[in-house]
Amino acid sequence: MNETHDPKRRAWLDSACATDSDFPVQNLPFGAFEGRGGVAIGDRIVDLQRLSAAGLVSGDAAEAARAAAGPTLNPLLALPQRFASALRARLSSLLSDPSCRARVEPCLVAMAGVRLDLPVAVGAYTDFLCSLDHTLRMGRGNLPPAFKHLPIAYNGRATSVRASGHPVRRPNGQHKAGEAVRFGPEPALDYELEFAMLVGEGNALGEPLSVDAAAQRIFGYCLLNDWSARNIQTFESTPLGPFLGKSFLTTVSPWIVTTDALAPFRTAAAAHDIEVPAYLRSSRDQAEGGLAIDLEAEIVTPKGGRERLSRTSLRNMYWTFAQMLAHHSSNGCNLGPGDMLGSGTLSGAADESRACLAELTDRGAKPVTLANGEKRAWLEDGDEVVFRARASRDGFVPIGFGECRGRIEPAVRFPS
Ligand code: MN
Repeated sequence: MNETHDPKRRAWLDSACATDSDFPVQNLPFGAFEGRGGVAIGDRIVDLQRLSAAGLVSGDAAEAARAAAGPTLNPLLALPQRFASALRARLSSLLSDPSCRARVEPCLVAMAGVRLDLPVAVGAYTDFLCSLDHTLRMGRGNLPPAFKHLPIAYNGRATSVRASGHPVRRPNGQHKAGEAVRFGPEPALDYELEFAMLVGEGNALGEPLSVDAAAQRIFGYCLLNDWSARNIQTFESTPLGPFLGKSFLTTVSPWIVTTDALAPFRTAAAAHDIEVPAYLRSSRDQAEGGLAIDLEAEIVTPKGGRERLSRTSLRNMYWTFAQMLAHHSSNGCNLGPGDMLGSGTLSGAADESRACLAELTDRGAKPVTLANGEKRAWLEDGDEVVFRARASRDGFVPIGFGECRGRIEPAVRFPS
């Protein structure tokens, strides 16, 4: 940790000092807006093109600002971490030193007035299955044989990853309706509350990463909604796993909270009751590979229903992100800047921590009743799902992730 985490440091921008702000000066997440890179502070964005042009950065920080100035952050993620760290340190002092205000303020843009883009071109997206409780509930008490031996995953779809706010078109597909098989709009549309890690410098093909090396390649994190078409998924998944039930859309929050910013919130990884192979073991990762982050999912309905459906924690991950990345590379598979690894649905043991409707409603059998009397077995057209998350620890300023939201739109009508 360093002075950028100092809880006494305060931005000269009032909105960054509000106690409920996701983006105090201790956070400084990277994103992209209107085709260029920026850093969130309070309700504003530091325009990195303007910051560079104003001559307010030099050395490694200037190189990082140039790399992050374009339409995606991939060039920044490809640099060694010290470049982003240098820019973070420079921004932290520019935004907290009142004598810099007059020079920095012209580089700020109001967040509310701009389009937030997908921050990286996602080269590959892999979705893991890291919650023991989610896996047990979905498997009706059965754990797959490999679960405690390795972080289970499948190759997801990168082309359909979109930033928060992108409409969620209900997919059409084949699914069982009683004994019959029909093609049509998915009746059992679900959300999955997940967390995503973005790879920075990757590994070359054929060169696995140790857990400790993998931890050094993690650029940062965002929220991820792994929208799931349950009936399509159920019918298609034997034997090759999820395909069209998942690939129609994945929504992420638009700000990448860096590994640097999360340093104060590191915590012990989950305890394992069987010994894992050496390539997945690291005493350092065991001691600090977890993150103290709480997450929630809220539903907003067209009839005015607004309710938190899930409240959970990253402590429910059986594997750490460094273990996931080490495992992913263990066969020599190469990962690169902007590759995205999803945690899997982050359910815990408690009822309120069930992080998808399939768990909340026992696969649709027991609909949830909202405070306004509406019932939901699955998501209906017009429903909006909003994820939020916050990292917190006593003695430090909490930081947030911004919103990951999506509203369900009716399925397209297929030509008959
Ligand atoms: Mn998932």
